[in-house]
Order: sequence, then C-alpha cells, then structure tokens
Amino acid sequence: MTEESAADRPTIAQRRHLLDMDRAALEDWLMEAGQERYRAAQVLQWVYERGAITFDVMSNLPKDLRTWLAERADILRSRIAGESVSRDGTRKLLLAWPDDQTVETVWIPDGTRHTACLSSQVGCPVGCRFCASGAAGVQRDLTAGEIVEQAWRVRALVSAMAEGGGRLSNIVLMGMGEPLANYDAVVKAVRILNAPWGLGVGARKITLSTVGLPKQIRRLADEGLQLNLALSLHAPNERLRRELIPWGKVPIEELLEACAYYFQRTGREVTLEYVLLADVNMQPEHADQLARIVRRLRCNVNLLRYNAVPGLPFARPTAEAAFAFQSRLRELGVNAHLRKSRGADIEAACGQLRRRTSQVADTQ
Ligand code: SF4
Repeated sequence: MTEESAADRPTIAQRRHLLDMDRAALEDWLMEAGQERYRAAQVLQWVYERGAITFDVMSNLPKDLRTWLAERADILRSRIAGESVSRDGTRKLLLAWPDDQTVETVWIPDGTRHTACLSSQVGCPVGCRFCASGAAGVQRDLTAGEIVEQAWRVRALVSAMAEGGGRLSNIVLMGMGEPLANYDAVVKAVRILNAPWGLGVGARKITLSTVGLPKQIRRLADEGLQLNLALSLHAPNERLRRELIPWGKVPIEELLEACAYYFQRTGREVTLEYVLLADVNMQPEHADQLARIVRRLRCNVNLLRYNAVPGLPFARPTAEAAFAFQSRLRELGVNAHLRKSRGADIEAACGQLRRRTSQVADTQ
C-alpha cells in the first residue's frame, strides 16, 4: 500500500460499494493497488460467508490492507429505516440509501424455505392501478450492489433468527420496480446472488417477475442463466390489462411469444402471476380467457388474493370467490395454484410500508 495523505482519500461519492463488485472487478481493483489476486477471495469469503460488515474483522488480511479498504469502500450502504413483522413471520424492512431514497425488502419464512423478495428500482415506472409502489412513479434505478445488499440483509436475518439455523434458500425479484427496466444492474446482481463466491443461491431458486418487456425477455433467455421467469399478467384480455397496467401496452400475444422463446432457450417454465381483484378480473369469462392463454404457453398460474391498499379503489376478494375462480380454471385443465398472501397484516403489498413511512415523514 502506498502512503497517502487524508486529502488524497476518496470522498463518499468515490467510495466503492463492495457488494456491487463481482470477483473479477475486486481482483482487478486490488491488483491495481499492488495486492495479490487471492486477497479478493479472502475479502469475499468474509463478506458473503461470514457476514462481515467491517474490514477490521478480516483477520487474515494485513492491517494496512484493511485500513486501505476501509478508507475506500463500504461493505453495506443501507440503514434500516423501518421494519414490520407479520403474525405469520413475514418481516418487511425499509432500507434507506445514502441519498435518502428508500426501498422495501421482505423476508418470507415458510418452514425450511426462506425467501427474500427484492426491489429492483426506487418506486416503479409501471404504475399498476392497484399497487402502492406504482402510484408515485420511479425515482431511480437501484445498482446491482443495492439489489445484492437487500438479499445480504435478509440472509443475515435468516442466519440470526430462523429457528433451527435456516439459510436463505430462495430469491424473488418481485418487490418494487420492474426488474427488466433496470436490466444490466439486475442481471449483474443475479450473477452475484448466484455465484459460489457470492450468496450462492441456485439460479433455479431465483425468480424474476416482470410485467413484460419482450425484447428484454429474449435477451434474458440468451444470458445462459437458469432463472425462473414469472409474467405478471393480471388480466386475460387487452382491454382490461391496459386499464389495470397502463404501461403494459405490449399486446399479450407478443408477450407470449417472448415467453415461449424463454422456455425454449432455458428449459425453465414460465409462470403466470394473476392478482385476484374482487369484481374486476375474476368473472367466469376471465377464467375462460385465461385458460386459453395458459394452454398456448403450457404454463402454471399463480393466483394471489390482493391485499387492499388504503386509498386505492380495489378490494381483496373473499376466499370463496378465489376458490371458485381457481376451480373454474382447474375444470378447464389449468394448473392453477392459489398462493398464500403473506404478511397481509403488515401491508405486504409492495410499496405500502414505504408509502406509509414517507407519509409519516411528510407530516413531521
Ligand atoms: Fe410496479 Fe409491480 Fe407495483 Fe405494478 S405491481 S406498479 S409492476 S411494483
């Protein structure tokens, strides 16, 4: 390490976010500073395997390298600005970044399965009429490191709090934002989440949920990743879909073709996500239209009962109405699963904790 005065040290804006660097980038950076390549593997092991949050504790690194790193890089960049825990154990974190923008991250425990639901943008450009995140539009994209940090934080919670010492097993990119509208950062993050030197979550345990950008779906199919793809359809015909998802102007037919390409290239089944909105998209004819789409794509459907958002004109359907819709789909030969809505008592629909927290902040 070379001697430097305090004036030469990087400002906050110039500091590196360690979770934003893949192994090759970290190796290059350290080697440019005169270090051996293997130091990168040591740092990564501390950060991802042992959950280190400071460089101090990295006892197998020379003291001057630890000091050099501490002066130039942050391991974590967020602070926990809010937290809520559901009766069913679902825990939602509100993470604030140095620019004071906030995102939500959710830990969903389910037996030995521990899922992190990650956000990909601050806010969301899609503006689904029934969603809290979409109401205020998108403020900015998240970096790959900010996406990885959310999973890192959930992993730390799971290790510290899960009964019987569980581990983070699944990741869904279903939080705030449209992942494919922040394509490069999301794909970079997925590679870090999946890497054996990173969080080590299998690609088949990672699901990316999109409202549907056909060009990006095809590009993702060619990335050589084995991700699960979920298409948020939410309406079985063009007219209703445009009403509910004003941004989703791409014809359903075009989306289905892109999804078929994804399946053909990756061998991974595409799942359709369908949020059940009382009296809006769950009439018998909607089941018939949805069944036709499913038959074309030969896929499964996940039905999710909507969690009502205060101020938005949509209601959660009764359990009976949801079962009736599922039964009709099943009679039509569709493999339709009714998913448990987790964390209904803690505002688990995306964007609600963030919205409530900013409303509280606005009134202070
Ligand atoms: Fe965006 Fe998802 Fe909310 Fe739609 S439901 S506005 S895609 S965050």
